[in-house]
Amino acid sequence: MPGPSAVRARGVPLILGAAAIAAVGVAGGVWWWRDSGVPEPPPKPERPSLSTPAPGTTPVQRQAAALGPPIATQAEILAHRTSAPTMFRLDANPRIFVADFPNLDRQGAAFNRTAALVEKAGLPRDRVLDDTELAAAIARTGDTPGTYYYGHNYRGRDLERFFALAERDGIRLTAEEAWLRDEVARIRRLVPAPAEFAVVSVPGLEERVDAAMREAILQHEIGHGHFFADARFAEHVGQVWRETFTEDERAAFRAFLAREGYDPGIEEVMMNEAMAYLIFTPDPRFFQPAHAGLTDDRADRLRAALREHAPR
Ligand SMILES: [Zn+2]
Repeated sequence: MPGPSAVRARGVPLILGAAAIAAVGVAGGVWWWRDSGVPEPPPKPERPSLSTPAPGTTPVQRQAAALGPPIATQAEILAHRTSAPTMFRLDANPRIFVADFPNLDRQGAAFNRTAALVEKAGLPRDRVLDDTELAAAIARTGDTPGTYYYGHNYRGRDLERFFALAERDGIRLTAEEAWLRDEVARIRRLVPAPAEFAVVSVPGLEERVDAAMREAILQHEIGHGHFFADARFAEHVGQVWRETFTEDERAAFRAFLAREGYDPGIEEVMMNEAMAYLIFTPDPRFFQPAHAGLTDDRADRLRAALREHAPR
């Protein structure tokens, strides 16, 4: 997801204070906080430690590394603080993997080139940009490598395609991309093809990311994870997008998302983002119904339709 709307200079007040957040709550947003979080499951005694094991120090650690990323709840990931990229496996859906980064810059170093390949507007869908081309593409949007997206989400097979194209084209990977390539390979051993998995990401707290933003980013990206890793939910989202949204509403969402840098020609990205912004983004700095030309009442109707089969 891109940064807060205000940062992107579209006429939204620069800082939305507590009053604005409270107003959104009164207008119907309060249920986000109550309902849309992933429910806490009973403790799992066999759950591996939250700290990423150094590969191969002891037999137990080697076994943990072979089993894959530590399983964690959304709340545990949210509370996690890291100085190095760390992969988690979401307990609520074991096909959703969450990459936690120390900050926006290191997250961008891992994922910006994939964003350019998969869904950023006006860029090639069939080859990977080199460092110079990527820097130019980011500069054209008025962003920096840190702010190109505030959070990322991809299907496993899109990441695998990215790394295959990068190798074909002789692109030198960043350290973070090399880390991600190894993580994706490790995850694929846990989720063999043709099964699908999702990798989403969240930045740590820093001057551009406060606690409410980190929470909203994580929630938003996990929403995408459900879309990628739960075919029934994705089918439902598609049906609501085609049958409940009006043509004008779809057009308004495409225009909003195009302003945010997404390729409006990719219909799946449009429905996936509309869904994630409407029901998984509890921070008005990132999304308000008016951004997509919706009244609060109409947004609530669309939310209700989307939530009918949304994972809890
Ligand atoms: Zn999104």
